[in-house]
Amino acid sequence: MSADGLPARVPAGRQDLPRNRAGEALSFWTDMQKLLSPEEIAVSASGEGSTNRLPAARVFADRAARLRTLAEGHAMGDFLLFAARLAQAQQTLLDRRPPAAPPDSAWLGRCRQHGMPPLDAQGAPLPADWRDVLLALAAEAAPHAPAGLQQAVGELRAVPAARHEAVARAILRADEQLADPLELALAPLAGAALQVLWTARALALQPGDLPAGFEDSLCPACGSHPVASIVRIGDAGHGVRYATCSLCACEWHVTRIKCVPCHNTRGIAYLNLEGGAGALHPAVKAETCPECRGSLKIVSMEKDPMADAFADDLATLALDMLVDEAGFHRAGRNLFLFMP
Ligand SMILES: [Zn+2]
Ligand SMILES: [Zn+2]
Repeated sequence: MSADGLPARVPAGRQDLPRNRAGEALSFWTDMQKLLSPEEIAVSASGEGSTNRLPAARVFADRAARLRTLAEGHAMGDFLLFAARLAQAQQTLLDRRPPAAPPDSAWLGRCRQHGMPPLDAQGAPLPADWRDVLLALAAEAAPHAPAGLQQAVGELRAVPAARHEAVARAILRADEQLADPLELALAPLAGAALQVLWTARALALQPGDLPAGFEDSLCPACGSHPVASIVRIGDAGHGVRYATCSLCACEWHVTRIKCVPCHNTRGIAYLNLEGGAGALHPAVKAETCPECRGSLKIVSMEKDPMADAFADDLATLALDMLVDEAGFHRAGRNLFLFMP
């Protein structure tokens, strides 16, 4: 058993890796240089042994289904149901889009060599149709929006495009400077629109297109922060942990019992929501790091095979309060969630 109480297993095909005392395969990438040799790039380009997972084509529909399940009997049930509607609308828009063109191979090669995200969110121009996606999402979600959001959704078309763009830029840059109430109200919709666009682009990639093996704190596809991490089961390698991107839904391998933001492995501890009859939401724990004082959630499919990093994160905001009270800050970023 590992320190987080979850059995540590080595995925098939990774038995040759060095292990730590818990028997978990140690990352052989940790000491890797950021510059890869041509041979390594060739292996990476083949997708063989890739440590990254591209999003599923039905990622938003799966998320919506999970949110609906989590909403039942939940204190924040209305909010979770709205999030489910928004996720379902995201799936509809994603399905309607023609497949995105993959980036050119020379660019992908350079990104793999230097460990750069090919779909960089920070500096990239906004896709030309991004506002159309935003307005379409707003139209779908408006009838179900909570009271606080209803007015902002209603006024959306009257808001100048430049202001929408400023919100989108702030989200892509992970700039937490949104303070204006209207911008805050618009942020989840803008975030949802950007997720559709970046997930569509990620779906045009092959796993081997992404820089692999850096075990970074940011997404290898788009450079965004993770929403949470997930311990997967099945074909992804049983018990293997991945960080899930808050923007494009790609996942990258991260070692267990290791802080994702700062890579520290000492003094890692776990918090969960205790109820009268044991853990209230047993599939979710918050991993806390004494080094950077950050905390990223771990969502375990071993505990609940239907768990989803994004949805289960939204349903466990009470755990974030516990984390805050214990003196840690939330490291995960959820684009449906913006606080003044
Ligand atoms: Zn990403
Ligand atoms: Zn840390």
